[in-house]
Amino acid sequence: MEPSPSLPPGVAFSDGARGTCPTCRTPGRGLYSVAAVPTTSNVLFHSQAEARAVPMGTLDLATCDTCGLLWNAAFDDRLVDYSKGYEETQGFSPTFRKWLEATTQQLSNERDLRGKLVVEVGCGKGEFLASLCAESGARGIGIDPSSTAGRVDLDSGAGLRFIQQLVEDVPPLDDAALLVCRHTLEHIGPIGPFLRAMERACLGNTPLLIEVPDLTRVLAEGAFWDLYHEHATYFTPGSLARWIRSMGRPIQMLRRVYSDQNMVLISDPDLPDDVQLQGESPAEQRQALLQFNHRAQESMASTSALLAEIQASGGTSVLWGAGSKATGLLVTLGLTDQVAAVVDINPDKTGSHIAGSAHRVIGPAELTEIQPDLVLVMNPLYVEEIRNSLKALGLNPRLETLG
Ligand SMILES: [Zn+2]
Repeated sequence: MEPSPSLPPGVAFSDGARGTCPTCRTPGRGLYSVAAVPTTSNVLFHSQAEARAVPMGTLDLATCDTCGLLWNAAFDDRLVDYSKGYEETQGFSPTFRKWLEATTQQLSNERDLRGKLVVEVGCGKGEFLASLCAESGARGIGIDPSSTAGRVDLDSGAGLRFIQQLVEDVPPLDDAALLVCRHTLEHIGPIGPFLRAMERACLGNTPLLIEVPDLTRVLAEGAFWDLYHEHATYFTPGSLARWIRSMGRPIQMLRRVYSDQNMVLISDPDLPDDVQLQGESPAEQRQALLQFNHRAQESMASTSALLAEIQASGGTSVLWGAGSKATGLLVTLGLTDQVAAVVDINPDKTGSHIAGSAHRVIGPAELTEIQPDLVLVMNPLYVEEIRNSLKALGLNPRLETLG
């Protein structure tokens, strides 16, 4: 593929050879690369200088024609440091809280977990685990080297406890009734050994619930802002199912959740495999990769043009949502003063700066001073929530979503 002259500096779409697939060992092929991106896009910084000095890594997305897995061929876990000011919680959003409660309620209705042990690997601040234990009456153990159980009730259900260690270092726990791993596998390169370490910690044959981002929508929409250095592995329903089965596990449920942004898989080794996937063959995925190339280039051009147009007319643009998506967009497009600030409702983020681009994060109230002409919403799921917040502030800017 010829590099297009209209692409931002450092961005390329190329299908050259890229190592081997981490799970099935087929030679990989390149898809998309960005030369310099922050190694941890979800970390916020106290000063502009610190934000600009963030270590940079390379995003070099590779694909496997056999199993459909995608991975960052340039992922370097030595560059990733989750201990510094990592802020992954979405707990401040009513939309997220509603989803969380509905999900844990359903899970506790489907399984009898009362008094039993639920282990969550990569539990972060423990919001999901606390909610599930409170709902089901289970006992919870959260394993996460960066867990800080500051915001959850340790008396939820039959009680919670956190182990601040890598799962590989945790001695075997009691026999667990459910092993949960949400939004963690995408941060792991060698996912096979990681799954085995989780199973060892739970004494083996444990029902497993996995939640990971679903790349299908990202590919279909060309959502390049959803691709990060620290996401070592990317899944579609097909590649996730092929990998879990290759690990000798049956699948009973695989479905998209959270407006199709994520997917949840349940694997109970004591039950037969009864999931059939449609439209998830590696050949069908190759079509989706072509679509990604096309849509991402289109989206890069149109977003840059919109922000440049607002700036040229003397207007002000802000982004809404100071998470990884904002970092991905700002850094990939090389945006500077085309964007005045990034709004976020989490008060812990106010006054901090976005990794790499160093844009300032503000609370919604500050928008009354900025009087934005354009609000670019990073997550379409929150558009209505944001529209209401703006209305309450007496503001009526143009509202656009990415994608
Ligand atoms: Zn493969």
